[in-house]
Amino acid sequence: MQLTGHHAFITGGSRGIGLACARALLAQGASVTIAGRDGASLAAAAAALAAQIDASRVATCVLDVTDEAAVHTAIAAAAQQLGPITILLNNAGQAQPAPFAKTSSRHWQQMLDVNLTGAFHCTQAVLPQMLEKGWGRIINIASTAGLKGYKYVSAYVAAKHGLVGLTKALALELATRNITVNAVCPGYTETDIVQDAVANIMQKTGRSEEQARAELAAGNPQQKLVQVEEVASAVAWLCQPASSAMTGQSIAVAGGEVM
Ligand code: NDP
Repeated sequence: MQLTGHHAFITGGSRGIGLACARALLAQGASVTIAGRDGASLAAAAAALAAQIDASRVATCVLDVTDEAAVHTAIAAAAQQLGPITILLNNAGQAQPAPFAKTSSRHWQQMLDVNLTGAFHCTQAVLPQMLEKGWGRIINIASTAGLKGYKYVSAYVAAKHGLVGLTKALALELATRNITVNAVCPGYTETDIVQDAVANIMQKTGRSEEQARAELAAGNPQQKLVQVEEVASAVAWLCQPASSAMTGQSIAVAGGEVM
């Protein structure tokens, strides 16, 4: 329970990697606000978390990370409810595929807005609270797509490389302020995003679901999809007080796909 007294704000906390991280941080004693656009799925996720753990440590917050004003309002309200935010998990993301030639400027902008600028807005809103507390952990869920290229997702790859760049620059700015900034970079992980990728492969190639999943897993030397708990474990470790020398890092959780 090393995170007792801390408040973690998790964007995209209603399902997938964000929800697994919420579970892991609650288990370490933190209070957690999960945020996303859909209030009903947030409420269902919060109820599931509260059933396992003390309900007074779980809150929800409806926001779209691309809406700067909404982000600032929501983060101020979350701090009112559960106390100053000392852990920020910029996890909300979308991965829409398109060959580069068919990537419209609207698609390009949307991938940058949600995967990169959303983290910028949330970090700007939370940082004053961390500076005042003199302690903070900012963790950006990037991707192996922030460390290497993949075809047919150029906008997503560019946004995630941007998020890794933001991580490094901000880590340097905050290095003497007791606030660490790191990126966690999952490979293909068993969530709705992978379900969508499987459906896309099936539709574009006529392959079966099993073949499509095998194709995604084949890039991982462990020959499997990453599990959300494996990502959450890395996140929880970075939040530990003893991880204070870890900053500016981009940690691949990908079975050795990137090394
Ligand atoms: P899911 O699709 O399962 O969950 C995405 C979460 O983000 C949901 O809670 C969703 O809620 C929220 N979200 C999406 N858009 C917005 C928005 N504009 N504002 C606020 N919340 C938003 O995805 P994963 O759990 O798979 O992905 C989480 C992160 O991990 C993403 O950043 C993704 O890029 C990254 N990642 C995922 C990998 C994978 O293979 N799954 C691999 C590498 C990285 P709602 O729709 O209600 O807003």
